[in-house]
Amino acid sequence: MLKVEQDFLSNRNILRGQLKQSPETVYALAFGAHPDDVELSCGATLLKIRSEGQTVAVCDLTRGEMGTLGTPETRKSEAETAAQLMGYQCRTTLDLGDSKLFNSEENLAEIIKVIRQFRPHVVFANSPDERHPDHIKGSRLVTDACYYAGLQQFKTTINGNAQEPYRPKHLLYYIQFKHLEPDIIVDISETFEASRKGVLAFSTQFYRSGITETPTTMINRPEFLTGLEARARYFGEQIGVHYGEGFKLSNILGVKLFTETF
Ligand SMILES: [Zn+2]
Repeated sequence: MLKVEQDFLSNRNILRGQLKQSPETVYALAFGAHPDDVELSCGATLLKIRSEGQTVAVCDLTRGEMGTLGTPETRKSEAETAAQLMGYQCRTTLDLGDSKLFNSEENLAEIIKVIRQFRPHVVFANSPDERHPDHIKGSRLVTDACYYAGLQQFKTTINGNAQEPYRPKHLLYYIQFKHLEPDIIVDISETFEASRKGVLAFSTQFYRSGITETPTTMINRPEFLTGLEARARYFGEQIGVHYGEGFKLSNILGVKLFTETF
């Protein structure tokens, strides 16, 4: 059993819908338009970050209420189970409206509040080029929010208390449905298997042996889960390891210590 897996089994994380007054810094904050986007696309990297001793939080922008399968209630309980299995410090689910993720000042403010609450070094988000329109809209919103969160004049409050401006250092886009040429590939050979538990926690969304009465969707075909593994294997091959997760960079990556990277 992997070291990280043992850790997950004993994990009891606190889940919350409400932001607290005082900030609680995490190293990485992963946004998804819908509950399960994060687990499907960058879950193994989040586990890798945890295995390196850093903290991770997740924020779903919507409750996924427009999905063909499951209900907002089942998706909520699946998201909580996934958070426990993955060992997130916190999972916050906003209610910005599935299929209504408009680039409004109100939606931006909600996301900025989360960024200022967690003050992450690295943010993960949906890619700007994707099949689902919510992924594209969510990507735009998070990209804008990461920038505006650093502006003193963009005011946000939690329970009447003003938040301090904060801009994350890095914004990475994960690759989900549409194939994109990654700018970087993370070696996830040690955490891929464990990350499958986070994906399978969303049990209403994917193929289950013996369940035949649900409508067929793009992601509940049995081939979908093997397709995920095939992609991880393909990205792994690109860097000479077993499994990999690919990311697009939002900005050029600077190299501080040459010998740490090359
Ligand atoms: Zn999605």
